[in-house]
Amino acid sequence: MSVGMVYLVGAGPGASDLVTVRGKELIERCDALVYDYLVYDELLTWTKRSCEKTYVGKRSGYHSKPQEDIEKLLIKLAKDGKMVVRLKGGDPFVFGRGGEEADALLDAGITFEIVPGVTASVGTAASMGIPLTHRNDSSAVVLVTGHEDPEKSETAVNWDHYAKLDATLCIYMGLTKLDYISSELLKAGMDPETSVAIVRWATLPTQESCIGKLGTISKTVIESGIKPPAMIIIGEVVRDAPKHSWFEQKPLFGKRIAITRTRQQSSELMHRLHQLGADVLELPLIKVSAAVDEQVKKDVFFELGSYDWIVFSSPNGVRYFFKEFFSEYKDVRSMGFMRIAAVGPATVKEIEQFHLEVEIMPEKHTGADLAEALIGTDSIEHSKVLVVKGNLGSDDLIKPLEEKWAIVDRFEVYKTEASDLSENAAAEKFRQLGAHGITFTSGSTVRSFVKQAKALQLEEGAETPKTFSIGPVTSKLMKEMHVPLVREAKESTLDGLIVAIVEELVHP
Ligand code: SAH
Repeated sequence: MSVGMVYLVGAGPGASDLVTVRGKELIERCDALVYDYLVYDELLTWTKRSCEKTYVGKRSGYHSKPQEDIEKLLIKLAKDGKMVVRLKGGDPFVFGRGGEEADALLDAGITFEIVPGVTASVGTAASMGIPLTHRNDSSAVVLVTGHEDPEKSETAVNWDHYAKLDATLCIYMGLTKLDYISSELLKAGMDPETSVAIVRWATLPTQESCIGKLGTISKTVIESGIKPPAMIIIGEVVRDAPKHSWFEQKPLFGKRIAITRTRQQSSELMHRLHQLGADVLELPLIKVSAAVDEQVKKDVFFELGSYDWIVFSSPNGVRYFFKEFFSEYKDVRSMGFMRIAAVGPATVKEIEQFHLEVEIMPEKHTGADLAEALIGTDSIEHSKVLVVKGNLGSDDLIKPLEEKWAIVDRFEVYKTEASDLSENAAAEKFRQLGAHGITFTSGSTVRSFVKQAKALQLEEGAETPKTFSIGPVTSKLMKEMHVPLVREAKESTLDGLIVAIVEELVHP
């Protein structure tokens, strides 16, 4: 039997890309994952399919699983020979009861390893632009809990002592006791003018914050409406936060944007919107998978050397075509000498990955424009053209070519279908909260959106999203299907779409 082991891993302050490289690697490889409330969902999607995931989170005010049970669970999983990751928000050894878990494992003879994480105070300071130490203002940092162990009767935190340290105070779990804490600090002689930052969901697109003075901070927090869990940072170093707060200055900060591409396709758009500070909801309305008729594939590959043109109408077409191609041939030269055309820059980018040069790309990225560009080369009459496509229509592209006497072979390499959203967490969030914007990047996303309208029905009070289309073909279909359009990208690319979103939502 293999010997199990437990890794106590820090998940970082919130944003999934602030976890350590080692932490990510362990999440990806573990057999069992035992995780807490504060951990951002994204990390949970990194596990392998067979990983057994157990939520043992605690929310302020009550414990959903007693600490002893968590320890027993870790020991049992390890004794069963599993590689166990115990994932905790921030750092496992900063107010995470990591020390107790390590003790329990030691007593049970289980091997463990500790992987640090960016603790919430450090993450918060970074996203707020607060230097925790400063040559002139603070030469020490205190990490202190504001929420004392409810099982202890006497108060353990000596606020009087901390008030006199001249240090930056980072108070975890303190928001519900803020009134008490601030009055204790004032009583001990701290200046009521000392700056204070209160930050909820630091480092996440949903971050909320307010800045105030120690003397009046309880009132400031009530006015701001910020609720726990939050970090409290007290000290003169907070003074310049409004000036340095780079995170909340991002153009799309505070905007929730739903994107409706497939999971495989959405990463670039998601990444770009995320970089601009948006809270991105990925609604995978459609799913794309390989779908090839074996006989057609045989015929196409048999004749491959005889085509004059190969035409790609989407990046997926390129991906699935080359998957089939390289399962048959080892060498890219087996493609022959055909000329290559592509509908738009994303498709060109995929083709160029194979060091193949694209000769034709129309100015406007539609099938009809691609056909026109091809016809413009005067090489189409009686030529053999291979159109690589999905299962959905490419009539706009193929018909004009055939009218000009091209011999067109269609090679369907993938299919697009509607996906099931009933259990999808992003769809749930969309129903509850709505979004500020929603993007449509192809006809199939529009069709699928309409088809799944019920699964995406907004609840009362949810924000109605403004709709964005990548270009005229998508917009036309939206009109036909009665999906109101707010703005169409001037240039039919992801860049164009992003410009449209920023123009509409930030500088209307
Ligand atoms: N081990 C964790 C702390 C757990 S205690 C760490 O090292 O960060 C939980 C407290 O951490 C919360 O009550 C809150 O005060 C703080 N916290 C955690 N994540 C936070 C975040 N993203 N933004 C603000 N505060 C956070």
